Amino acid sequence: MGKLVLATRNEKKKREILEIVEGTGFEIVTLRDFPHAPEVVEDALTFKENAIKKATAIADYTGCVTFADDSGLEVDALGGMPGVFSARFAGEPSDDERNNKMLLEMLKEVPAEKRTARFRCVIAIAFPDGRIETADGVCEGHIGLEPRGQKGFGYDPLFIPDNYQQTFGELPSETKNAISHRGQALHRAGRILRSF
Ligand code: IMP
Repeated sequence: MGKLVLATRNEKKKREILEIVEGTGFEIVTLRDFPHAPEVVEDALTFKENAIKKATAIADYTGCVTFADDSGLEVDALGGMPGVFSARFAGEPSDDERNNKMLLEMLKEVPAEKRTARFRCVIAIAFPDGRIETADGVCEGHIGLEPRGQKGFGYDPLFIPDNYQQTFGELPSETKNAISHRGQALHRAGRILRSF
């Protein structure tokens, strides 16, 4: 079975992805194994376009099946922001704590029932023959009034998924993986990889 390149430099995301793609039969390698791989600028206006752009660029460079994801948070009271700007919402360099502070600040007048939000994830798998497959996942929830929990990354301490009282920052990683946007997209992507 061939190599599968995970096109992410985010260690926490990588861990979540590994938990699910291990067992697909591919030898998993990361961008660490390709230190001169191009830095792909995620400047598209949708998660899907960004994921495809990243997967295609790295597959072209490595000649291997490549797996890339793009994800983010959409907050209804902010018209879907931060969306594709989730990582750099409070500016460069990307900083989770500053992003969370800014989000709370922007929502400070918004009552609990209007703080609905969702995480969205799109995974693109680029094959060396030029074929591209995508898989997506959505996790609905709302934004809490203050950060809670140390687990996970990004907006996890603020995001309370539907049917739970705790934030993603408080829930065990197995629970998050079972219901999260990335967990759902990964299961769909796993099926695509196993059928390859
Ligand atoms: P990406 O690395 O371009 O996909 O950026 C995604 C950004 O969206 C991250 O930097 C986080 O701010 C946010 N994000 C995506 N998925 C999650 C998640 O599972 N938990 C918390 N924040 C997330």
